Amino acid sequence: MGRRVRVIAAMTAHAMEFGASLDGIERWPAQRLEAYRLQRLQEIVERAAHEVPYYRSLWQAAGLRDLRIRSAADLERLPMVTKQDLIEAGRRGQRPARGRVGFSTRGTSGEPLLVWLDREEADAYVRPTERGFRWAGLGAGMRVLLMSPVWHRLAACEGHAVARLGARAAYFWGSMDPQSAGAFQDTLADLHPEFVTTTAPFLLSVLRSCAADGVPASRLFAATRAVVVVGLPLTPWLRQHLERELGVAVFERGGTQEGAALDECEAHAGPHIHEDVCHLEVVTPEGKAAGSGERGELVVTKLTPGSVFVRYSTGDIAAFLPGACACGRSFRRLKIYGRPESSVTVGGRNITAYDVRMCVDVDPELVGRNVLLVRPPAGADGALIIAIEGEPRGAAALEERLRGELGVAAVTIHWLGEVRVAWGFRQVVPHEELRLPPS
Ligand SMILES: [Zn+2]
Repeated sequence: MGRRVRVIAAMTAHAMEFGASLDGIERWPAQRLEAYRLQRLQEIVERAAHEVPYYRSLWQAAGLRDLRIRSAADLERLPMVTKQDLIEAGRRGQRPARGRVGFSTRGTSGEPLLVWLDREEADAYVRPTERGFRWAGLGAGMRVLLMSPVWHRLAACEGHAVARLGARAAYFWGSMDPQSAGAFQDTLADLHPEFVTTTAPFLLSVLRSCAADGVPASRLFAATRAVVVVGLPLTPWLRQHLERELGVAVFERGGTQEGAALDECEAHAGPHIHEDVCHLEVVTPEGKAAGSGERGELVVTKLTPGSVFVRYSTGDIAAFLPGACACGRSFRRLKIYGRPESSVTVGGRNITAYDVRMCVDVDPELVGRNVLLVRPPAGADGALIIAIEGEPRGAAALEERLRGELGVAAVTIHWLGEVRVAWGFRQVVPHEELRLPPS
């Protein structure tokens, strides 16, 4: 009993230190940041080995005796774990302590994982949110409209970050379905928010709703200085489209329920990783560290107090962005392109909805339209099939771009006309679901 009390006391001291010593970390020289990350990784791995039977037995079974982390390569010796691994470990009897707050993954990819946060950990994750909002220009006294899907811990941190920055938060009471777009327009008109957070798919529904009502969206966003969006990786053209329609700077925010946290700075060169709270890896299908710009699977190790995720394989497809950011911050940048569920395989090539939107959005007549990848019926995986809302525009040129850029032999485009499909996170529909004619 005495020992248990000491461990808890030590963790509390650790948690306090975690917050206090990190001022200005985003501009630390790369070497100092690297040393910090390695030290934090060492602490997390030691804690996991001592306190979490799941990791202890996993690493023992892998024959790992030396758990010292002196380099990235040391960490890469540890086996990766998946969501299903953790769900099954939970079923075998590990239960979180009472009084914690649970957040659930959406379950777009199979069974949802419930993630438990204790107080220290929740605090640790408000800090990067606060930092990201500061980068996007949020300051004391500003009116903020939060679109907060509160099952997500990143979203749950937003209200706390707004309060810490001395701004005033209002929550939109509605869903992210297109049906809520009208109510969101009304809320914007009532509140005149100076700062807005929402999802990119919902923002596109709002633009469409404004167009249908003959209201310029820029009028509703007249007082707004920044819009922070999540939920859909922005192509450069989609960003320009949003900024032009809204008349506001758009900042891309990203992250995962399991601990990855990213925000874009004022240079808009892709999201920076909040490297004080998470260590991210991009791993190739062969299990090697991907090079800069090379895509692979996103793997997360959390550096905060609280629940332990070591080399957790998120399933997301991501890449580190090459080069330094013009802002001079030392946090690396990373783009999350999608999940296996938001991609299709054509002729052995993995193609994400983002890849397709890169070809679609470049056409000013097509940018902002909902684009879906269509998963072909079994046995018909030789062609790329996509569905685009609205009437055909520049179809021949688009087909050529898709073939040229994505290296696919055959492309089928279904133009959906007035059939409206909800902007979703999944971005892929099975052939049967769209009720398309046979391709
Ligand atoms: Zn930057």
